[in-house]
Formats: sequence, C-alpha cells, structure tokens
Amino acid sequence: MTTTTSTTAPAFAATVPGLPRIGPDRELKRVIEAHWAGRAEAGEVLAVRDRLRRDARDRLLAAGLDSVPVGVHSLYDQVLDAAALFGMHAPRHLLDAAGEPRDVLAAYFAAARGTAEAAPLEMTKWFDTNYHHLVPELSEATSLTLHDEALLAEVREAVAAGAPARPVLIGPLTLLRAAKPAAGAAAGFDPLDKLEELLPHYRTLLARLRVAGADWVQIDEPALVTDLGEAELDAARRALAALGETPDRPAILVQTYFGDPGPALDLLAAAPVEAVGLDLVAGGVPERLPAGFADKTLLTGIVDGRNVWRADLDAALATLRALAPQVGHLAVGTSCSLLHVPYGLAAETALAERDPELVARLAFAEEKITEVAALATALAAADPERAIAGALAASRRAARLTAEDPRLHRAAVRERVAAVDEADLARAPYPERAAAQAAATALPPLPTTTIGSFPQTAQLRAARARLRAGEIDEAAYRERMREEVREVIALQEDLGLDVLVHGEPERNDMVQYFAEQLDGYAATAAGWVQSYGTRCVRPPILFGDVARPRPMTVDWARFAASLTDRPVKGMLTGPVTMLAWSFVREDIPAADTAAQVALAIRDEVADLEAAGLAIIQVDEPALRELLPPRAADRPAYLDWSVRAFRLATAGAAPATAIHTHMCYSEFGELIDSIAALDADVTSIEAARSTMGIVADLDRAGFALGIGPGIYDIHSPRVPGVEELAESLRRAAAAVPADRLWVNPDCGLKTRRPEECVPALRNMVAAARRVRAELAG
Ligand code: GLN
Ligand code: ZN
Repeated sequence: MTTTTSTTAPAFAATVPGLPRIGPDRELKRVIEAHWAGRAEAGEVLAVRDRLRRDARDRLLAAGLDSVPVGVHSLYDQVLDAAALFGMHAPRHLLDAAGEPRDVLAAYFAAARGTAEAAPLEMTKWFDTNYHHLVPELSEATSLTLHDEALLAEVREAVAAGAPARPVLIGPLTLLRAAKPAAGAAAGFDPLDKLEELLPHYRTLLARLRVAGADWVQIDEPALVTDLGEAELDAARRALAALGETPDRPAILVQTYFGDPGPALDLLAAAPVEAVGLDLVAGGVPERLPAGFADKTLLTGIVDGRNVWRADLDAALATLRALAPQVGHLAVGTSCSLLHVPYGLAAETALAERDPELVARLAFAEEKITEVAALATALAAADPERAIAGALAASRRAARLTAEDPRLHRAAVRERVAAVDEADLARAPYPERAAAQAAATALPPLPTTTIGSFPQTAQLRAARARLRAGEIDEAAYRERMREEVREVIALQEDLGLDVLVHGEPERNDMVQYFAEQLDGYAATAAGWVQSYGTRCVRPPILFGDVARPRPMTVDWARFAASLTDRPVKGMLTGPVTMLAWSFVREDIPAADTAAQVALAIRDEVADLEAAGLAIIQVDEPALRELLPPRAADRPAYLDWSVRAFRLATAGAAPATAIHTHMCYSEFGELIDSIAALDADVTSIEAARSTMGIVADLDRAGFALGIGPGIYDIHSPRVPGVEELAESLRRAAAAVPADRLWVNPDCGLKTRRPEECVPALRNMVAAARRVRAELAG
C-alpha cells in the first residue's frame, strides 16, 4: 500500500513542527498593518514574509536540523491558510462593495478582519493555547477547490536552495473540526460531512508536492488529542487511509500536539503513514508504543514548544533511549510548533544583565532549536557526553539554578500556602452578604457600571512612550494619568453611572501591570508571541515564588474614590488569568503557583477594603482558556482554579461586594464553576449569546448577581436605547431583577470615546426605562 516514493524518503533526525512567523522584530506585523492602512503594497508584505521564511530556513539548517517545515509563514492564521488552500471561502469575502471580485490577498484579509459590508470569520482559541484561529464557514453548498500554487512555489524554492523541505498541512479532521456550519447551511449539517469531498483534494495536493520535490509532508492532526466519538475516530481512520494510499506521494508525518492521542494512538500505529509526531511534554511518555510503530519514524516532541524553560537534556536522552527500540526510527523535535514562544534570547540583553540566573534557565525558539539539534547529535554519537558537552553543561546548570535560586524557594510564601484551609476559601452565605452590601452601599435596582477600562487614547499611549523615551519623568507621567482619572470620573458622573471605575489608564496590560509589581515575575523586552493576526502579546515570566512587596493599585483607587461621592470599584486581575497569560514555572504544580498569586491578590483586596473601597472586581477572563482538552482532566483544573479565585477573594468582609468578569468564550460547560467562584456579581460576555447564558445560569440554579454584557464593545456600532432595554427585559425575564446588573460586555480600552460615550449614555437610559417599567 505504501509506495516506492515514500519508502525511499530519506530519514530525518531533527526538526520542529512549526515556527514563529511574525518576525524577530515584529517586521511582518508592521508591514501588514501598513498595508491595511494603505501605506504598503501587497508586494512589500510578501517580500517581508519571504525574507523571514528564508531566514528561518537558513537558521534551522545552520543549527543542524535536517528537515525543514515549509508553508508555516502565515500572513494571518494557519487555519485560514488551510481554508483558502481548499477553497473554503465565505462568499461575502470574495466580492468588494462594487460587486467586483477581490484579489486573493484582499479576500484573505477580508475573511480575517471583515470589511465595511461583511463581517469577518469568527475567531476562537486554538485548543488550550492563547493563539486564536479563524473559524471557516462551510455548508453543503461550499464547493471545494485546490489553490496550491503558492505552497508549491514555496516548496520548489526551498528544494532549489538545497533544503530538505517538509510542507506542513493542517489535516482534514482538524480542519473540518475547526470549521462551523455557515449561516445558511442545512439543518443538521456538520462540517465533517465534507470529508469525502475534501480527501481527493488532499490526495491531489500530496502528489503535486512530491513532484515539486518534497520527500516528506507533515499533516497536523491535533484534533486527535481531544475527546473524539466513534464517528470522528472512524473519519480519522478513513482520512489517514486515503492519504496514505495516494500513489506517488511524499512520505507522511502525522503530527499531533497539545496532549496524548489516547485511543487514537492505535489508529496512528495502524495508519499507512511513515511517521508520527507525539507531544511527550503535554501528553506524557507512552509506557509502551503499539507494535505498528516498529516500522515507523517517531518524531518525539520532547523539547517543550510552548513554555520557555530549558530542557533537561539528561532526562530527555533517557526517554529517547527507552523509546528507540520500540520504533523503526527515532527523530527529535519540539512538542508543538514554536509559534507559541518568542524568537530568541538574543534580544533580552537587559534581562541578561539584570538577571543572568533567570536567563540561564530560559530557552526561546532559537534556543529550543539548538536543544533539538543537540539531542539528535547525542543520540547518534558514540560518546554523547563529549559530543554535546556544552549543551549538557548549560542544561545541568539550569537545573541547579532551579533547585538553588532562593527566589524560587521563599519559606514565608510556602508556609502561607501550606497553611491555607477551607475557612480561608469561604465567605458568609450570599443572602447575608447581599443584605450587608445593600446596607453599606445604596444602589438603585439594575445598577449600571462598566468593566473597568476606558478608552486608551492616543494621548495616553503617547505619554507612556514619552516616559519610556525619558522625555518626561515618572512624576509627570503619574500626573498625566491622574488627569485622565479625573476626566473619566467626571464623565461617569455626567453619564449617570451608579458604580464608577478609575478607568485603568496606568495599565499597559492587565497581567503585565501586576507582574511588574510582584516578586517572582520577570518581564521581557522583546518576548512577543502572536495572539492572532498581527496582534502580539508579551507574556511575563512567572519564575519564582510570588510575593507582593507593596500595594499595587491602592493609590489609584483611593485617588479615584476621593473625586466622587458615588461608589468606585477596585480593579484587580485574578490568579487564573495571571497564570494563563504568563509563561509559568513548572518546578511546582500550577495549583501551588496559583495559590501564591491568589494570596498576593488577597492582600491587595484587604488593602483596598481598608482604603474604603466597598466593591472590588477581580477579573478572570481566562478561566475558560486553560480548560484541558480532555474532559477527564477538567475537574482537577476547575478545582484548583476555583480555589485560587476564592482564596484571592474570600478574605473580604460580607459588606464588601466582590465582582468578577469573564469574556471571550462559551461558558456552557463552566456554569457550576462560575457559581462556585461565589462572586457577588459576575459580568459576562459570551461569544454567541449573552442572554442565552443568563437563562442557562438561571436554569442551573445560579443564585448570585449577574451582569450580562448588553453593549457589544467589540463593534464600533452605538446600540439604541430601546435595543438595550429589550436585552435588559429579556435578562430580567430570566433572572430576578434584584440580582441583575447593567454593563457593557467587556472593557472599553480598545474603543474610541466617540463610540462608547453615546453607547454608555444609551445604556444608562435603557436601565432607567426598564427600572420604571419594573416599578410600575
Ligand atoms: N478590567 C479589564 C478591562 O476593563 C477587563 C479586561 C478583559 O476582560 N479582558 O479592560
Ligand atoms: Zn472582558
């Protein structure tokens, strides 16, 4: 069944499943954004992208890797690339306002970002990462067609340059599972229904890739690490058989990542493919591989592709040696694409000077590539100690620093975490709290508030840039921020909001702001990671025991409260989100790290309370994000994450109202956990139906305060009073009015004042209208 071409494919020893692509200096981000703004031609975008991918290829080869992923330098998103490759277009993105067909790149960006006339594709998280992919829309009417010219050209170019090119494709199962039924699809249509129609295109593509000179092709099937039903497993089996039986194709590597394939491992072993990639970091090392691996290559994902710690090369070598006899051939790789880590440590000169012990423990993409190469060298060497002496010494030093750096082992922090008991996690019963809070703070029914941030104006960003450039000093900067707080408070009083916020002008980012003030955290200078499209984040590194040397937000909150007679809400980021949006240490369990962060926040809550704040919001927008891909792993996660939130908040007195905020996801399966957080008020944004989640919460017996986001801040549109009132009436039909709050669905920092001020005015008017109706 396998063909001669595939069996003669040269073996490879070291590679990575994918690469960062935004540019070490975010060059690709800049040129794409310039293109969107009309300041750069499409040709300039492609020129930058092509240079980045050639540089990446050269670096992999120079480091000693002997198989190079090709087709991974996406201009926006790899799922969108795969959809475009197979002609999975939403018709609304293909034509411009005049009804003329858009060119390929314009249609691509129209799908990614939308246009004045057409909404973009929906965006959602890529498995349990902080990367977001676009969701292709399919219906029975979508006609699939192959558009492989660009990919084939890229393969030819790499081959001509002498590189062992391995084109990377998202596999059919993962691609169809990442799609959703288009608005007009027939009832009951499932994207997986398209499988039989899609497979011949993959087969055609495989044959063409072979002709273009690819000896190997990589088919990414991370969907295989999620819970799959029989029908899906069967679809995966059929798909792999169809691909494997393609005549004159390259050898196939089926790549999985983010977990272990579980029941799909046997299916992979039996599939007519030449190699399988497993994520041994997230998925663990299989005790015994199925017999089918005896004539396959195993690409061992042994160097962590998602976190920033140096690999333990001694342990990795031991694992590799134990696996070697069970497989036909062993190759070394990272556990997943390096898309999820920054480019390299070379840019971190300031950190290296400030904290050489920390930097000695880190490995970004560039360093991970070196680790992969070193492991492959060691496996092939007669005397590994000598062959990779330098790499082993660096790895052992990192382990020693982890064991000995005093910042990772603070006795006071450890003792405090160990002493936490159930009483620390429990508040008085909600009815008692609600009564105390009503007595402490007089509020009308359906109180109005916002989620925390107000627009981050160009002036604010300019002030931050001037501070960084040394043009203004810290005091002048703070005064500029205080000015902003005054304006935001005055605005909210004018709007007639009931619970005010200070507007968060001083925060660059809701996690980094706290990370910069906590011991045990470090910030990078250039540790950018793509979040979606051209949006990059710079996750701080949580490397040590976490402690709070001094209050972090109290001065701002006290200042804001001094400006008004109305209640002001304190604003903190919760422990789960502090972990989710950071690179987190792995030498202790995440639950313990979360407890350490929670205790720091607990102290901040106490200080805010002491400063007179009667309402404190602890945001957890990332609660859903860390949910493990397999249902069996979820209870343990939800247990520690809920406990961490409660530890952070349960020290508050009954009269102090604890609010929380969540967004960006479907919360259906999290309802019990949201209730278990025991926050007095939860404001929530749900991707599809905010009012739907209100009804779901009520059906599930949720008996706490709830603020469904009735104003969609992700859109520039200003909703009218009656439209907002109607949303409120629907919410009031599902939840008793005395537990209902009125708020936008997220922070306002990305909106312009011209958009959100009238919207907030309408929101207050809508609340008054519905209050009057309820009273009448
Ligand atoms: N308080 C934050 C803000 O208003 C919450 C942000 C978020 O939900 N991601 O910006
Ligand atoms: Zn939000």
